[in-house]
Amino acid sequence: MKILVTGGTGYIGSHTAVELQEAGFEVIIADNLSNSEAGVIDRIAEITGTRPAFEVVDLTDVDATGKLFLKYPGIIAVIHFAALKSVSESVERPLAYYQNNIVSLLNLIREMECQHIPHLVFSSSCTVYGQPEKLPVTEDAPFRTPWSPYGNTKQVSEQIIRDVCRVSSFNSILLRYFNPAGAHHTALIGELPLGVPNNLVPYITQTAAGKRDYLRIFGNDYNTPDGTAIRDYIHVVDLAKAHVAALTRLVERKNTQQAEAFNLGTGKGYSVMEVVQSFERVSGVRLNYRYVPRRPGDVEQVWADPSLANRELAWKAEQDLDEMLRSAWNWEKRLMER
Ligand code: NAD
Ligand code: UDP
Repeated sequence: MKILVTGGTGYIGSHTAVELQEAGFEVIIADNLSNSEAGVIDRIAEITGTRPAFEVVDLTDVDATGKLFLKYPGIIAVIHFAALKSVSESVERPLAYYQNNIVSLLNLIREMECQHIPHLVFSSSCTVYGQPEKLPVTEDAPFRTPWSPYGNTKQVSEQIIRDVCRVSSFNSILLRYFNPAGAHHTALIGELPLGVPNNLVPYITQTAAGKRDYLRIFGNDYNTPDGTAIRDYIHVVDLAKAHVAALTRLVERKNTQQAEAFNLGTGKGYSVMEVVQSFERVSGVRLNYRYVPRRPGDVEQVWADPSLANRELAWKAEQDLDEMLRSAWNWEKRLMER
């Protein structure tokens, strides 16, 4: 069964390509390499023993997107990871984010309709909830006005997909990721932030590796037990496995609605300080950090109720925070060797 994985040389896409191949799917990766490198294909091949097909395609280019589907007839489903993902950059460059994330989705759906490909798994985010009133947050919690253009592209994309599902035979699963972290246990693939990382875990590992002077902990005056903000960190391999489960649900037509949304988290929240302590425990490295004021746009605390995904996708996150930090550190050390 041929699956198109857009953004498949990126962080979550590459781990998902591995899990898909290991589950017996045939993977075609399309990526414009704006935030990843082609060498990832070699490493997916090294891990799985199978080289996925790979095309450098910018999905905002409608002609190139059309040609991609013509070149690979028989694709049965698409997993759409390709997007720009930096919250802060999106505030600086809103048009680039709307252009890239929305136009690529529109082109993709249009071509899928032309080729009668009915199944789409979409990368959404817990940012759609903002600061929820009730924790843990469930899928029926209301969307909050997005703080950033990036967050808005996720809300608008979900709405576009729902609207298309309403008037066609299109089926989609919208996966709302909480905080992906960690790397493959082989340390052959992992997160490759270009420039200064925005996310906590790569900032921690780069600080420990000496690439950054110190970690800035954004806020220690939150209404949480240790004053630092709380998130639901999920191992990227657990996340990747959820995509295989979602895809299987669509292909086997076990979905109960044409557009379904699932939270992908562990159900447990950890504070920034707890993440730092976990890193120090598994790496044996003392981390240099300082408290600085809160980062604009950050919510105080959010963690998932993943029970819907646990039940309907027959999936559960298995790896704990220590394992996320251990694998992220092994990956950072591998990058230093390279
Ligand atoms: P990533 O940047 O590592 O991967 C995205 C890939 O998409 C990159 O390889 C990039 O080159 C490619 N890409 C971007 N625009 C493209 C275009 N127009 N045409 C073709 N390829 C394009 O990011 P990731 O962390 O793997 O995120 C994957 C998806 O998950 C994104 O949609 C992101 O918004 C979403 N998401 C990520 C997180 C997170 O913390 N990493 C959290 C929630 C949601
Ligand atoms: N964070 C931090 N220092 C950093 C990066 C992040 O203190 O250098 C905090 C951030 O304020 C948030 C948590 O770590 O409370 C997770 O942030 P991240 O950017 O990884 O994910 P987000 O939840 O913002 O999508």
